[in-house]
Amino acid sequence: MLIKKDIRSLNLAEISEDFKNMGEPGFRAKQVYKWVASGCESFSDMSNISKPLREKLEEIYFIPTVKIVKKLTSKLDETVKYLYELHDGERIESVLMKYNHGYTVCISTQVGCRMGCSFCASGLGGLYRNLLPSEMLAQVMMAGKDNNIRVSNIVLMGMGEPLDNFDNVKKFLELVSDSEGLGIGYRHISLSTSGVVPGIYKLAELNLPITLSISLHAPFDNIRSDMMKVNKRWNIEELLKACKDYQSVTGRRISFEYAMIKGKNDTDACANQLAKILRGILCHVNLIPVNPVKENTYEKSERKALEQFASKLNGLGINTTVRRTLGGDIDASCGQLRRKFEEKGGDTNEHLQ
Ligand code: SAH
Ligand code: SF4
Repeated sequence: MLIKKDIRSLNLAEISEDFKNMGEPGFRAKQVYKWVASGCESFSDMSNISKPLREKLEEIYFIPTVKIVKKLTSKLDETVKYLYELHDGERIESVLMKYNHGYTVCISTQVGCRMGCSFCASGLGGLYRNLLPSEMLAQVMMAGKDNNIRVSNIVLMGMGEPLDNFDNVKKFLELVSDSEGLGIGYRHISLSTSGVVPGIYKLAELNLPITLSISLHAPFDNIRSDMMKVNKRWNIEELLKACKDYQSVTGRRISFEYAMIKGKNDTDACANQLAKILRGILCHVNLIPVNPVKENTYEKSERKALEQFASKLNGLGINTTVRRTLGGDIDASCGQLRRKFEEKGGDTNEHLQ
């Protein structure tokens, strides 16, 4: 049996090469690429392509799409959370958020995650599989289509560790930023990593003007290793060295994410140490109260502790903000909805509107 090729993960050069081998002219390849890259979901919708060619394409290729399984709309703000089903029945999450400057989609890069951070719902069941570039694109396209809006920003902060799926993420970045497709520029894209150090060096080599976000969460190795296994492989010193390399190559400011956990990483000693290790890096710290998941005992830091921590860091010259939490009523932290859905055999209705 012929295994069909995922056409949405191909760039124009790759489609052109295939078309050349099929004896089709270059301009046809461009027409088909434009359809696929701008969100067309079926060959039969490609109105400027002849029927025989459409049928031929149907035999060779498929267009991976995502199907909405659940959609939760926040009553507190306009955040929309999606649970999508992929062509093989796997499920992933995306979140659409509205900010003053436009719409941001938070996408998943893997089904599950093998990094196993103790505070995170996405990693609890391990890694199921990597997402294809087309499946990352489909999340952006569906959010736009379902809400009839133009997505202006993307954050790779959903389920999965983007740098553990490096090649597919790299291809996704190329495709999503292409002006023949969605045209979302690199400057409007943020990639968040738990600290896969070789991946940071590889990303620096690409020298793309995307924002790198580091999930730091603790300034001491013992605390960080307890929360994040990845720290046992690459410790804070190695991680920050990679960040400095990334900055010297790209000139980009780095974001550090810090989930505040009561009594664990929200002390004065942590604030002082954080300021010390970040000195000299052009950066921004985002504090966010940890979202408790039922598999651990972590509690959110008090609002006052967050504010004190932020003002201490700002006072020490480290630019810090307390991140606005969107969609607090709909489990907007990625991984939580999928898990709940699986545990309850598909019933998440208490959150539905
Ligand atoms: N794997 C990447 C990107 C996905 S996680 C990474 O770890 O950076 C996106 C962000 O959500 C990360 O900063 C992660 O640390 C944070 N996060 C995960 N679970 C959380 C929770 N329960 N509460 C608060 N932040 C959480
Ligand atoms: Fe994976 Fe990121 Fe969750 Fe850690 S925080 S388990 S790296 S998704």
